[in-house]
Amino acid sequence: MPRDAHGREIDYLRISLTDRCNLRCTYCMPTQGERFGPSEALLDATEIARVVEAAIAVGFRRIRFTGGEPTLRADLVDIVARIARVPGVVDLAMTTNGMRLPELAAPLAAAGLRRVNVHLDALDPTRLRRVMRRGILAEIWAGIEAAEAAGLQPVKLNTVVVRGINEEDVLPLAALTLERPWQVRFIETMPLGTGEAARVARAGLVPTSVLRERIVAALGPLHAVASPHPSDEARLFRLPAARGLVGFISPVSDPYCASCNRMRLTADGRLHLCLLRDDELDLRAPLRRGAAREEIAEILLRAVQHKPLGHGLGTGEFPQRQQMFQIGG
Ligand code: SAM
Ligand code: SF4
Repeated sequence: MPRDAHGREIDYLRISLTDRCNLRCTYCMPTQGERFGPSEALLDATEIARVVEAAIAVGFRRIRFTGGEPTLRADLVDIVARIARVPGVVDLAMTTNGMRLPELAAPLAAAGLRRVNVHLDALDPTRLRRVMRRGILAEIWAGIEAAEAAGLQPVKLNTVVVRGINEEDVLPLAALTLERPWQVRFIETMPLGTGEAARVARAGLVPTSVLRERIVAALGPLHAVASPHPSDEARLFRLPAARGLVGFISPVSDPYCASCNRMRLTADGRLHLCLLRDDELDLRAPLRRGAAREEIAEILLRAVQHKPLGHGLGTGEFPQRQQMFQIGG
């Protein structure tokens, strides 16, 4: 397994399949003036498979597709099938807003996808539209149930809490875990880039400590549960007699940089070394001039070596340049 200069074992590759999205979540994308890359810049299925084969050869084990919205890729099922066939991939997951899962969950599971994280910010349809602009609760819910029925388990839900918009949804979402064997994870807003979305994220931050207090006061004590993966960014808890788990992802109030195990590949083929910094190494040019697996592997190892130790949130080093959808969340 590759180790970075700070002793962290990096075995998790998050691959963005597109920078485009069918939604415009307030803290992620603006409603106008978005700049998307040209479609010919996107890595194709063969190029993605070449990167994954090289990554596995140097010790990566876990792969996740993300975006933008990965389900907008017309060749998604083909990409999943190809990557699922690469020997050595022990976990193959996807992060999605769930809107297209009703029709895609079964073919994706058949192609070899193991599990999904579905983004759901509210259980009230009006508030959901306010925070995940263009999001439709009934469709996302149908997507979650389709994923569960297709065996894409355990289902994890990602909820980004924004002050004054969907705070009221925190308790009903946490209470879902009483009945359902799901993991509901509350994520602190991170200000990425310099635009409107970053302003929403900065002003909308509700620290994990506040959410924990509210959940405990309304639903009972949260008992800590060890994560099966030590580098899991979510701290996990169980409510009394709950079937599922509540998780907190706290990049702002409790950064998990010291146990970061991930490398990101943007949809246009850049290795992005830390979500909250601009450091990158290009893979697309080598891929397109026919680089051998050894050369791609060598660039991956160089990227691992250069991973920065911590992000600059709160240090005044911001702003960094790119937004979440341009990197891959
Ligand atoms: N479109 C898919 C989705 O929404 O799940 C995949 C990409 S999205 C960028 C991945 C995750 O990043 C989502 O769970 C989303 O809630 C989260 N996210 C996006 N912008 C964020 C921000 N500014 N701060 C914290 N989380 C953010
Ligand atoms: Fe799209 Fe996901 Fe960003 Fe929302 S968080 S705008 S669904 S990429």
